[in-house]
Amino acid sequence: MLRYDIDRVLEKIGGAKKIGLQLPNGLRFKSIEIAKIFEDKGFDVFVSGESCYGACDIDLELLKEVDYLLHFCHTPIVEMEGVVYVPCFYDLELDVEEIAKLKIKEKRIALISTAQYTPKLKELKEIMESFGHDVELRKGVGRVKLEGQVLGCNYSVLKNTKADAVLFVGDGLFHAVGASIYSKKKVYTYSPITREFRVVSNEDFIKKRYLKISGVLDKHKAAIIVSTKSGQKRLSLALKLKKLAKERGKDVDILVLNEVSPQKLENFPYEFYVNTACPRITYDDANLFKKTILTPQEFEIALGLRDWEDYMIDEIL
Ligand code: SF4
Repeated sequence: MLRYDIDRVLEKIGGAKKIGLQLPNGLRFKSIEIAKIFEDKGFDVFVSGESCYGACDIDLELLKEVDYLLHFCHTPIVEMEGVVYVPCFYDLELDVEEIAKLKIKEKRIALISTAQYTPKLKELKEIMESFGHDVELRKGVGRVKLEGQVLGCNYSVLKNTKADAVLFVGDGLFHAVGASIYSKKKVYTYSPITREFRVVSNEDFIKKRYLKISGVLDKHKAAIIVSTKSGQKRLSLALKLKKLAKERGKDVDILVLNEVSPQKLENFPYEFYVNTACPRITYDDANLFKKTILTPQEFEIALGLRDWEDYMIDEIL
């Protein structure tokens, strides 16, 4: 079960009249329940129907209309007056016997997870140490705020890791694959909810990305996408890439938009795109777009500025 500290929020927003709620997709099914908590306390509640990718994605229009915008399930990225982040954590028991059975051969292990599981990492560290592992539990830099926390755009917790392998605690493969490309270590993934444990391979992911890069080598008209979302805007990176591309004979524009979606890219004459907004759009949503979308680092490979062997994951610090 996900828990969030409503008392702390109420303390912060005391005296306010109008509040906005911004909920990520995975929590939207609780909008009625959460809105009622605040309505019962006398607030006028407005639920945002705009996207909520992460803490980087603030509904600025709604923020203008309310005293506070409550941003659920994320740790702070964009510090802005009126925005209150409400982190959510999983309330679950770790099964020591099950963890004892995980077949992790390496002695030195780095623990990482998404924010929702981070409160469990200290306990997991102690359990694994009792089984003879040396366990690394550190905090990264920039937009990650919690020990062991990774984001789809930030794996800095693994920078210069001394671990022989990484254990990702959480759901899905996206972060685990990202961690394996970033750290170049063996990565295990364990979901305390489904109890699934596996070794992650990044081979398929990299093969697919190499195919995307190869596909644009003979193409010349591109747009570099910049998102206006507060925590995704990388205008200077776009300008730098444009200059490098122009010097190499490419015809490149900078395309500015808030939501990067297939519909928004319709009718433009560009042969491919370079996405400086959230890296998940490039990696996870690649098949939704008609034309190829590369990360900035993949574009550097296409321009001959980076070696293919030096493939790296896109990172926003
Ligand atoms: S840029 Fe993407 S991966 Fe990074 S915090 Fe925002 S939504 Fe998450």
